[in-house]
Amino acid sequence: MKNPRAIQRNCPCFNGRCQMTKTPHKQGRPSKICPVCERAFQWRKKWARDWSQVRYCSHRCRALAKAANRQDSHV
Ligand SMILES: [Zn+2]
Repeated sequence: MKNPRAIQRNCPCFNGRCQMTKTPHKQGRPSKICPVCERAFQWRKKWARDWSQVRYCSHRCRALAKAANRQDSHV
């Protein structure tokens, strides 16, 4: 029996390529570019359910994007 947690701890996925499953980085841990700070950010477990809807790297960037959208109306 393999302990998933032990695999996760030993797995270098977080640094790029998964050596446990031989999964390429792109597939195993996708990344996106944040349109606000223009930095790449990686898939996180908390986004497992709605990764397709994730657009910003952080709450802060999401808030900034919303603020920018609202600049036309009152701030
Ligand atoms: Zn960002």
